[in-house]
Amino acid sequence: MLAYTYVEQGRFEWRDKPEPRLEEPRDAIVRVTLSSICTSDLHIKHGSVPRAVPGITVGHEMVGVVEAVGEAVKNIAPGDRVTVNVETFCGECFFCRHGYVNNCTDPHGGWALGCRIDGGQTGYVRVPYADTGLNRIPDSVTDEQALFVGDILATGFWAARISEVKEEDTVLIIGAGPTGICTLLCTMLKRPRRIIVCERSPERIRFVRRHYPEVLVTEPEDCLTFVKAHSVHGGADVVMEVAGTDDTFRLAWECARPNAIVTVVAMYDKPQMLPLPDMYGKNLTFKTGGVDGCDCAEILGLIEAGKIDTTPLITHRFPLRQIEEAYHIFENKLDGVMKIAISG
Ligand SMILES: [Zn+2]
Ligand SMILES: [Zn+2]
Repeated sequence: MLAYTYVEQGRFEWRDKPEPRLEEPRDAIVRVTLSSICTSDLHIKHGSVPRAVPGITVGHEMVGVVEAVGEAVKNIAPGDRVTVNVETFCGECFFCRHGYVNNCTDPHGGWALGCRIDGGQTGYVRVPYADTGLNRIPDSVTDEQALFVGDILATGFWAARISEVKEEDTVLIIGAGPTGICTLLCTMLKRPRRIIVCERSPERIRFVRRHYPEVLVTEPEDCLTFVKAHSVHGGADVVMEVAGTDDTFRLAWECARPNAIVTVVAMYDKPQMLPLPDMYGKNLTFKTGGVDGCDCAEILGLIEAGKIDTTPLITHRFPLRQIEEAYHIFENKLDGVMKIAISG
């Protein structure tokens, strides 16, 4: 089968590989029916993910149909339509038992698919720990509706959960890229008094205004003044930083009111300054990523109930054989792209 492969820094190419087979009793083999491209794939391409192994098939956002399962798999069976979790986790270690699955101590735990082991931008993928890594998609939910459950939507859901959003809160979300929008959707479920989105791109601002007219929008230069004018206690009660650019960490804590929660969802290329003298007395609580992707069943239930809809994020569709063109559009942010659905 043809597999889109990380060859070396700066280069992804097609490689012909054998179809994967079950290797461990808890494995499953999934036929990929729909996948997507994530900014993290680009990080691998550009060499900013040192643990990424050259030669692996890339891609960690996907849904598919189970072809085979190992003898120790209990919850998933061949023929099931499933979401695939970006995180591999054993479900049994100290961290898994406490819901901190991102810190699973299993040697294969964490972000493995499409990074350290073969991922999903191909025909078939081997998923270790299938009982925790796969979730059955309800019959009434389409592949497109479920496509982002295992990665960016899990991230948005987790961010909204740990940020302890309350109904009286003014919430600031910095960044309206795909993960920012997923964070917005999951924050809306908490029904805070007000949500403000800060974004620079005119296309993304239009996207928010068109799909979520009840959300207030500001740009980075005006953000601090805007947030102060639209919050009750001199700043946002909760800030979620989902942009990860040079100035957005500072913006996040500056826009927070005293005793606010500031959740850093973004992944930065560079270290960030925590200027404690400047924020002394503000008594902020910081929470940091990455995602504990253990809420996928609950998220699928919310999609089934019509409470979360990420399909507006899919702005482009390509067959797998045209994935190079899809990467070109996604990487260069052409043509108003948010997310691309790649059909297998
Ligand atoms: Zn991703
Ligand atoms: Zn574990």
